[in-house]
Amino acid sequence: MSVAALLLGCRPHLEMVAPDSDSQSAVHVPPEDATAPAEPAQPTVAAFPKGTVERMLLPGTPWATRLRVVHSGVPGPVVLVLGGVHGDEPGAWAAADQVATWMPTSGSLLVIPRANVVAIAQNVRTTTELGDLNRLYPGDPKSKSPMSRMAAAIVSAVREFKVQVVYDMHESWDFYAERSQNGNAFLGQTVSGGTGEDALLNARALVVRANQRITVKRDRMVARSEVPAASVKQTNSLGIGRFVDDLTCLLIEMGQDHQQESRRTELHVLVARTFLESRSML
Ligand SMILES: [Zn+2]
Repeated sequence: MSVAALLLGCRPHLEMVAPDSDSQSAVHVPPEDATAPAEPAQPTVAAFPKGTVERMLLPGTPWATRLRVVHSGVPGPVVLVLGGVHGDEPGAWAAADQVATWMPTSGSLLVIPRANVVAIAQNVRTTTELGDLNRLYPGDPKSKSPMSRMAAAIVSAVREFKVQVVYDMHESWDFYAERSQNGNAFLGQTVSGGTGEDALLNARALVVRANQRITVKRDRMVARSEVPAASVKQTNSLGIGRFVDDLTCLLIEMGQDHQQESRRTELHVLVARTFLESRSML
């Protein structure tokens, strides 16, 4: 891909981590006939009373967005699904809209389907004025940057509801398995594990399970293993566990290159459903 093409297709850049920290090292591609490794055991927390909570984050502002919380009333995992962190990744927020209709049978499911509504309305990744939500964790509730305030609201919700897994849905440009060079433009069809000792194990297990359901070979997922350990520089969603104990962070990317939006949404939904089913939440 030319430099010009990279610049034009600007969604992909800087998706995951600081550009100086995510190159090199090996990729783990599970063999296609692999059986899913067992996910690490998740400690069971006391269930919240059964019920649904709807609220707005940053209420009364232009950036106000919906948080939906569904408590099954049955002990189980607490998972937060994020969509729409970047406004030009429609396959991700359309999938999150669907996830926001699901009713978990155990644990609690939180969904923020459209985290950056102003960027979505403008169909841009974000703007300078808004700030990049995926570079601003843990955020600051008093910041002039709206997305820094949103990051703080998200971290606050994670703490309030004792979230155990943050599952953040995005889109990149090229497919990771087809990349011609290292770089953040090439993260399509990947699952990345961030903070949480078990994050990489979870990423690998999810990839194996999901790929058993993805019949088109090009569309299959890859677990990225070269994501660096959390550092003080890490301000994307993979590092939220730096600020919250016992939190596993996963980031899922679909590639926009030669993959229609409807298919990206379909695959995001498939992978999210696979993850929640693996936790007996669906
Ligand atoms: Zn993104």
